Amino acid sequence: MSTAAGDAGGLEVRVDRIRCVGTGLCAAAAPADVQLGPDGRAVPRHARAEASERLTEAAEMCPTEALTVHLAATGELVAPLD
Ligand code: SF4
Repeated sequence: MSTAAGDAGGLEVRVDRIRCVGTGLCAAAAPADVQLGPDGRAVPRHARAEASERLTEAAEMCPTEALTVHLAATGELVAPLD
């Protein structure tokens, strides 16, 4: 079995709501995966996400590293990476 980040439905988007400052950059970059909630902080749209450049970019552009993308099966961080 592959554990590649490209596995369909194999990713989990997490938002650290303490770190999130509500810039909206992630929601603009990956609107299918992330939205801003009523309190102005980001929330994942779905329990599982598929790998995409937009999602990776969203995690990489977050100024506070509040948005992270993980392999759902293991929790391994896949974005942002140094
Ligand atoms: S880019 Fe980061 S700080 Fe800005 S809304 Fe998204 S998670 Fe929050």
